[in-house]
Amino acid sequence: MKLIEFQGKDLFRRVGIPTPRGVYATTAADVKKFIEQNPGSWVLKSQVLMGGRGKAGGIKFADDAAQGETLAKELIGKHLRNEQNPEGETVRSLLVEEKVAIESEAYVSIAIDRDARKPIIMVSAQGGMDVEEVAEHDPDAIAKYWVDPAIGFSPFEARRLAFAAKLPAGYLRAFPKIVGGLYELFMDYGANLVEINPLVLTKDGSVIASDAKVDLDDNALYKHPDIQEWNKATPTDEDQVAALAIGLGMFNYKKFADDPAEPSKTVGTIANGAGLGMGTMDAVKNAGGGAANFLDIGGGAQADLVKKSYNLVTSDPRVKAMFINIFGGITRGDQVAMGIVEALKGNDVRKVPMVIRLTGTNAEEGRKILGDAGFFPVETMDEGAAKAVALANGGK
Ligand code: GDP
Ligand code: MN
Repeated sequence: MKLIEFQGKDLFRRVGIPTPRGVYATTAADVKKFIEQNPGSWVLKSQVLMGGRGKAGGIKFADDAAQGETLAKELIGKHLRNEQNPEGETVRSLLVEEKVAIESEAYVSIAIDRDARKPIIMVSAQGGMDVEEVAEHDPDAIAKYWVDPAIGFSPFEARRLAFAAKLPAGYLRAFPKIVGGLYELFMDYGANLVEINPLVLTKDGSVIASDAKVDLDDNALYKHPDIQEWNKATPTDEDQVAALAIGLGMFNYKKFADDPAEPSKTVGTIANGAGLGMGTMDAVKNAGGGAANFLDIGGGAQADLVKKSYNLVTSDPRVKAMFINIFGGITRGDQVAMGIVEALKGNDVRKVPMVIRLTGTNAEEGRKILGDAGFFPVETMDEGAAKAVALANGGK
């Protein structure tokens, strides 16, 4: 199963590979609205499976909303073609992404080498162009490494590959984590190919996956039923666009419609991990309340994302109390707490009362920090759900 760019990038984010901020759009009106709300320079990228979209005229740059609208109208419905894809494809949707200032473009991929029966990692400093072309004219420009799956891949090999491919020095810090993530994706999702071309070094020194090509082995899809669904549904609805806009995966946020047969949906939820997110909603239900949404903030729960997620969930006027459920694990609870306090400092956190369940290392110190800052810290999920439901109902 070949994935479209925005889907590939969703997987990239799951394994910690940085991607540009962006939204998925199916109409020119949505593009216009998005750029109006987020002024700046944006790239409009045709979401088709074929490669070489740049040369085929499927990638455009917009500096304001009006230009974005015009270009989106031009692209949606356009039939793209190039030498490698003479049949071409019709554009039905776009990825609107923050335009980055490019310092350098590199290439990195992992594929199965059938002869060696091992994954092969290929890296080149000549990104942005067709790798076959590079292979033909300058085969030495591609550094290769065959991974022994029994041993796995080490950051040391990533650094060695970066040197062998003569990547500019600006790549070195970020490179091992990116290739490590790519290898994790490759193995965990049973891929035939994962490719970042270009892997961009920006003028301000960050390294970011500007393109994504992912081909998954159909026989391994059973391990990830959510991805099987991608065949049937593309994220056209508002929730997915909203999730992508704040840097979450497109399926990480879901707002629930009111149901007269159920309690009013007045409790906003945020959890780290999809399973915990669902457990959180169940706990709210068991406590006699209604969860207004599902939001999986992913691992780590970084302060900036907590803030954006909080703003997204509380933008729903039905939400009268928040329940944030963070499983700390090895993450130190006091650090998570300080992150949350810091993140929500500028926000009107008393817009709705906020219950936070924190477990893990140093959770007790964490809860003290949260309590002092005016939040409602709790220890267990059920306790938190009961508290949030009571607060949402106007109680204490
Ligand atoms: P492909 O042609 O289908 O492989 O699409 P890519 O996503 O690789 O984009 C093609 C080219 O567009 C890239 O190699 C870049 O040169 C250019 N491009 C894409 N995104 C950006 C961006 O954010 N900033 C700039 N300056 N160029 C970009
Ligand atoms: Mn590309």
